[in-house]
Amino acid sequence: MGKQTAGRDTLGAFAPQFAQLNDDVLFGEVWSREEQLSLRDRSLVTVTALVASGMIDTSFQYHLETAKKNGITKTEIGEILTQLAFYAGWPKAWAAFRMAIQVWTEEESGKDPRMEHAQAMMFPMGQPNEEFAPYFTGKSYLFPVSTSQVGIFNVTFEPGCRNNWHIHHAKAGGGQILVCVAGRGFYQEWGKAAVEMRPGDVVNIPAGVKHWHGAAMDSWFSHLAVEVPGEESSNEWLEPVTEEEYGRLR
Ligand code: MN
Repeated sequence: MGKQTAGRDTLGAFAPQFAQLNDDVLFGEVWSREEQLSLRDRSLVTVTALVASGMIDTSFQYHLETAKKNGITKTEIGEILTQLAFYAGWPKAWAAFRMAIQVWTEEESGKDPRMEHAQAMMFPMGQPNEEFAPYFTGKSYLFPVSTSQVGIFNVTFEPGCRNNWHIHHAKAGGGQILVCVAGRGFYQEWGKAAVEMRPGDVVNIPAGVKHWHGAAMDSWFSHLAVEVPGEESSNEWLEPVTEEEYGRLR
């Protein structure tokens, strides 16, 4: 649990001792003893106590949001409040449900990052990219946009996902063109700084150049990969991009 400052923020001037106990003891010492009792269980106890005492106010909303962060699911909060209704009182459960429904439905109404990303691009996300999974860190998806004349594939990377260092070989011609269609990611050539890619950005990769491409740590990323026709073309997959190399990117 992050450092709590709500006590000092709200009551620091009016009641410094209460603020200090709230931030440093209740949250700093009691909530943080995760080894003795998990955050999830602490949330369950706290939500129960607040409903039982009828404290369905902004502090309750905070504790519902915390409960959700601590892993209590929509199904579970439904069960918890239903059970509580019989012991704490029907009207209290009703009031709690009105708040819970807002906390637990927020992300389903279009805030799912994967869905948002899919909706932000005109090409489909396609299927899990299982054929190339051995050469990727993290999960990727593949949709064939064109499979004749020039091969064009929409490749989608989940946040943190990237492919291994690799080389597109060809005796003549060949190489690859990347066109970012959604999200934010990177392209990097061996020995050079990584280049950020946003929708509309294009990268031309000549044959024989060692490189990787993938998502930013905090964003989904999709690019069209255009396979430039070449003589005797092949792909050579090399080592993964290390956490250290990748972790330096912003
Ligand atoms: Mn490539």
